[in-house]
This record gives sequence, C-alpha cells and structure tokens, in this order.
Amino acid sequence: MSRDYQRSRIYAWEDRYIHSRDYSVIPFEQAQSIVDYVWAEARRTHPPKVVMISQAARRTVANANRLRITIPRHGIKTTILLHEIAHSMTGSIDEPGDHGPAFVGTFMCLVCHHIRTFSLPQLMDSARSEGVDFDLTAASSAGPVGGH
Ligand SMILES: [Zn+2]
Repeated sequence: MSRDYQRSRIYAWEDRYIHSRDYSVIPFEQAQSIVDYVWAEARRTHPPKVVMISQAARRTVANANRLRITIPRHGIKTTILLHEIAHSMTGSIDEPGDHGPAFVGTFMCLVCHHIRTFSLPQLMDSARSEGVDFDLTAASSAGPVGGH
C-alpha cells in the first residue's frame, strides 16, 4: 500500500461534500490569525507559519507541513485552510503529511468544530459512501466537537 494511497479519493470526497458547500474566502492577511486560533483551540503550541505562494512558483495550490502552510496571494477557502491545518497537525517537520485515516479524522473534527453547518455523522456517512478511510481516535487533539 502506498504511503498516500487514498489521496485522489479524498480530493473527490472533499470537492463533492465539503468545498462545494463552502463559499468563504479568507484573505491572505487574515489566514495567520485563523491558524493561530484553530491551533490554540486544539490546545497546541507553536502554530505553523502562513506564507504566500511565490508568484514564480508553478504550483498554485496550497500545501503544508508541520512548520508552514503555503497559500495563494488571493486567499483561501476556510475548508481548504482547515485541510492544510490538518496536514500540519498530522505531518512531520520536513515532509508534507499524507491523506491517511488520521489526517481525515483530524480534518473532519476541525470542519465540524469550526463550521456549524457541518455535522460529524453526516461527514462520516459521506466518507463511508466514497470509500474514504478515517480514524477519529487520532483526532482528539483537533479540539472538542460541538454538540450538534
Ligand atoms: Zn492534502
């Protein structure tokens, strides 16, 4: 099994059930304070640093490791930023995280905790229907999930 075996499945699931329901745009200038807030809510210290994708870079999509989150100059959807934060929470210092079950569980808890229109049972159902593996036991450090 490859290290990032369900990457394309995760992208399809997120596009269908999560990003398509998120019309927000966080401007680049506000992204660091959101990251700091989400990180503190999860009772963690040393949040990753938000940096802008350089205009010379050919890649224009966001990415993240434990120490930094790289986002476009024009800003980012809240749910995509939470995806990157989940990578920071589950990744290591020098490598971008994968999209394994611990990542998905962490991401689900962040989405439900911070965006009230999403619920955990609904995300779990949609993930199962798309064949996405998730592990919620790894996600306890993502912050408490609201009662809804
Ligand atoms: Zn990712």
